Amino acid sequence: MTDASTWAVPLRSREGVAFTVVTGAACVDFVYTGGLGDRARWESLHEPADLAAWAGASRLVHGATPPSEIAVTDVEFAAAIELREVLWRSINRLADGERIARADAAALNVYASRPDLAPRLDGGALTFATPIAASQILSTLARDAIALAGGPLRERVRRCAAPDCPLPFVDTSRPGTRRWCAMARCGNRDKARTRRRTEKGDGRSA
Ligand SMILES: [Zn+2]
Repeated sequence: MTDASTWAVPLRSREGVAFTVVTGAACVDFVYTGGLGDRARWESLHEPADLAAWAGASRLVHGATPPSEIAVTDVEFAAAIELREVLWRSINRLADGERIARADAAALNVYASRPDLAPRLDGGALTFATPIAASQILSTLARDAIALAGGPLRERVRRCAAPDCPLPFVDTSRPGTRRWCAMARCGNRDKARTRRRTEKGDGRSA
């Protein structure tokens, strides 16, 4: 998998502003593709071809596998949507400092028990054997979540500090003091809020 500390997911805010988030883990990338409830407004997986496109451009395959090499059946697509909810709940439990719910852990274990992506050496370069089945993608994502929940980075799963931003991330920074999904988005909004408060304060004292 590509370097967790640099791989960034492109997003667009409610106001239409483009920004990128370093999520810190492939399983977190996947929950950024949409979901139920409020997350439906980000939904980018509407049909099996959308999952193939996401997977082919994802860090799982170094962003370099044509979607035509990734086969997604309707059943696998439905499973992907279900796994995404499991991941969303699981990542949020970790962000709250809690253990993943038993039923969700059991679901992750089932997905992870299936064959994952098969790495290949091609002329000294790491690639992945194709064609790829969507079940391999789902297994790889579940294994990634299990490694996260069972490893030291579990303590680094957080939610953006902006009160109106639900985005989770894994803080892979050396000091471990990351607060925002993206400095260019919520960090700057916070700076602007602080500036406005300060200016108002100055006005009163003048
Ligand atoms: Zn945020």
